Amino acid sequence: MRFLGSIHIAVGILLLTIGLGFYADLKGEQMHAQNVQMQVGLERLVRLNQSLTSSMSLAVAEKNTLRAASYNSVQTELEATMNGLLALTQHMTVASDMLALAQEQQALRLVENQAFGHMRDDRWEAAYQALLGGDYVMALKLYEINSDSVVGSLNIELANAAQRQDYLRQASLVLRLAAAVLLLWAGWRYSSRLQADLAEQVRLRSEVTQANEALEETVKRRTAELQEANSQLESLSTTDSLTGLANRRRFDSYWEQEWCRAQRQATPLAVIMLDVDHFKLYNDHYGHQQGDRCLQRVAEVLRASVRRAGELAARYGGEEFVVVLPGVSGEQAAETAQLILKALRAEQLPHASSPDGSVVTVSLGVASGIPDESASREHLLKAADVALYEAKSLSRNCVVLSRAV
Ligand code: GH3
Ligand code: MG
Ligand code: MG
Repeated sequence: MRFLGSIHIAVGILLLTIGLGFYADLKGEQMHAQNVQMQVGLERLVRLNQSLTSSMSLAVAEKNTLRAASYNSVQTELEATMNGLLALTQHMTVASDMLALAQEQQALRLVENQAFGHMRDDRWEAAYQALLGGDYVMALKLYEINSDSVVGSLNIELANAAQRQDYLRQASLVLRLAAAVLLLWAGWRYSSRLQADLAEQVRLRSEVTQANEALEETVKRRTAELQEANSQLESLSTTDSLTGLANRRRFDSYWEQEWCRAQRQATPLAVIMLDVDHFKLYNDHYGHQQGDRCLQRVAEVLRASVRRAGELAARYGGEEFVVVLPGVSGEQAAETAQLILKALRAEQLPHASSPDGSVVTVSLGVASGIPDESASREHLLKAADVALYEAKSLSRNCVVLSRAV
């Protein structure tokens, strides 16, 4: 902030020069007034002195004391003028000249007083001699010389003072110029600083905007990632890891939802329970891993058979599966169960150790009904399970429709 300091200095200099200007002007005016006063005083002094000396000369020439009567009043005026001039020049170099002039005046007055004495005693010859004698004439001459010298000294002094004033004015001008240059420099520095600040602000703002945009982008990306992770989690938590079908958890909530809807709308709700036949033997024969692959094939068949809106195939647990068919009667659900049975049979999955044949088969229990207030949610499932049990005890590899509901 050097330019701020410069502005302070420049303003200081300007104030100083304004002060100097005022001072110089004031001094000039004072000097001018003093000069006029002194010129007038000196002229008056000379005139009054001449008037005194000439009235004295005429008085003695005409032997007329009356003419000398006006002498006193003129002399009083002359004294006052001289005192005024002495006071005025008191502190000036011209003061000594002024003092000398006053002494010369004093000397003249002494001679004139002598002459007055002679006139009063009627000794006109003596008065005449005193005034026209060498002393008086000499004093008169000296007086004139001294009054000229006062004027000369005064002029020199005035010239010196005027020169000092000029110096002062010139110094003031130079200082003003310096202050103006300093102000210009400070202004230029200030404006370039402002421009730099402005550019910096613009840069910072754009950086902040970029950072904000990047942040928004990151937040968007993270939100999408989070949503994706959530939906994956959601899907994982509702999907059976082995078969990819809906898991038991998903089935439970879906069953609850569809049960309530069917109850509300008084529409039928059907369920198919499916169990792989002799699966223990399958595992025993082919091994658990192969058993897993078999379950995956069964799931594929189910997925392909259950495709209509609202239908859901889920793994109920172990080698048991379940299919939910909203709005479907028992007979229609049994048809779907038959289709599943056939589709799996068509797969011809080998089951060498099956007592009922050489391929993997399933048994299916079907139940359907319109849920009423008194019936529990498990009621229909239980009925389908009982039907499945019947299918198992009948011959396996078949569909049984529950008559319980
Ligand atoms: P049934 O015809 O009466 O249904 O006889 P089953 O042998 O199929 O019935 P059981 O209940 O005796 O045996 C079911 C077998 O299913 C037992 C178990 O080892 C097997 N199992 C259950 N879950 C899995 C699984 O996730 N993978 C494999 N590989 N086997 C499973
Ligand atoms: Mg079972
Ligand atoms: Mg079984």
